[in-house]
Amino acid sequence: MEKAAIKFEVVAQNGDARTGLIKSRRGEIETPVFMPVGTAGTVKGTRFEQLESADLDARIILGNTYHLWLRPGIETIRACGGLHRFIGWERALLTDSGGFQVWSLGKLRKITEEGTEFRSHVDGSLRFLSPEVAMEVQAALGSDIVMVFDECAPGKATSEDARRSMELTARWARRSRTRFDALQREGVDLGRTEGRDGLSGEQALFGIVQGATQGDLRTESLERTREIGFDGYAIGGLSVGEEKSVMWDVIDQIVPLMPADGPRYLMGVGTPEDLVEAVARGVDMFDCVLPTRNGRTGQAFTSRGKLNVKNAQWAADDRPLDESCQCSVCMRHSRAYLRHLHVSGEMLASILLTHHNLAFFLDTMRRVRQSIRSGDFPKFRREFIERLTANGE
Ligand SMILES: [Zn+2]
Repeated sequence: MEKAAIKFEVVAQNGDARTGLIKSRRGEIETPVFMPVGTAGTVKGTRFEQLESADLDARIILGNTYHLWLRPGIETIRACGGLHRFIGWERALLTDSGGFQVWSLGKLRKITEEGTEFRSHVDGSLRFLSPEVAMEVQAALGSDIVMVFDECAPGKATSEDARRSMELTARWARRSRTRFDALQREGVDLGRTEGRDGLSGEQALFGIVQGATQGDLRTESLERTREIGFDGYAIGGLSVGEEKSVMWDVIDQIVPLMPADGPRYLMGVGTPEDLVEAVARGVDMFDCVLPTRNGRTGQAFTSRGKLNVKNAQWAADDRPLDESCQCSVCMRHSRAYLRHLHVSGEMLASILLTHHNLAFFLDTMRRVRQSIRSGDFPKFRREFIERLTANGE
């Protein structure tokens, strides 16, 4: 038995909400945790020093296998000592498998039993991604948490399509596990001699539950994924065009069936209210592009709901974006100044809004964890949602 790459323990529970600790070789990660998305080896618009600062204190970020594999490519990252060293980030990294990105290409990809063929958006070349390739790429990246290669069914898939997709995902999960285990045994040659980043037995692998919006398929997918056995379990294929109520139905049904002694990860979700509501149902891990992407388009997430800095009403408003936020942007700058930067097309607007948005998401999770520890989560949840939707500025 190899040593486990991560250890997870639940520290406190309040209803179904729980707070815990993931111990990885790159530090401890308190859960529930929000993971900023670093698609192409960068959390867009923010420096790593900021991610590490007390303001944000992100313990783990996400990298995208698909994007990094196409550009700069695995040879480059391997030659530079793996993804951590390449980007200059010593804390934990989770990489997705590329399954979702390839699936998002729609008609531009062809799915077979073997894997998925598609054209690169970078240079138009024909590429092939399979469970084995996805494991090899993530081994070379050296991420701390690796995701299995899965297939996602559209939110409104027919029963047959959803079943076919779920069964393919189950077979791909087994192939992912087999290749991953072989790679961990072999160790990964990162092209450096000192061996500091030798990865043998030190990556964790998470399985992904699929099955579109159908309860029976989701349950079967979870059973088949548990049978294979993983370090953590993720719910994939939600927030892909289905109704919100349908998403909650799936989460209500599946989360209680997920192993309690491993982290539960809801992929690609969501808004601040989604995070709090999913925590209430027992979810531990989240990632989403919303704080960074919306920051670049002028949208701020605040404790009183969304705020669009473009709006003329902020032209001479000297209040911070969020009067209850303690982040360095809210401590220093006004809505009026941020609006001025945004309408002038200054890149600082994106940088400052991204920083505040990440601070808001990460601080919300910090407060969620505190409230679970003190047994006040139900009250926190009620007041948080009330304030968000009260819509007073
Ligand atoms: Zn702020």
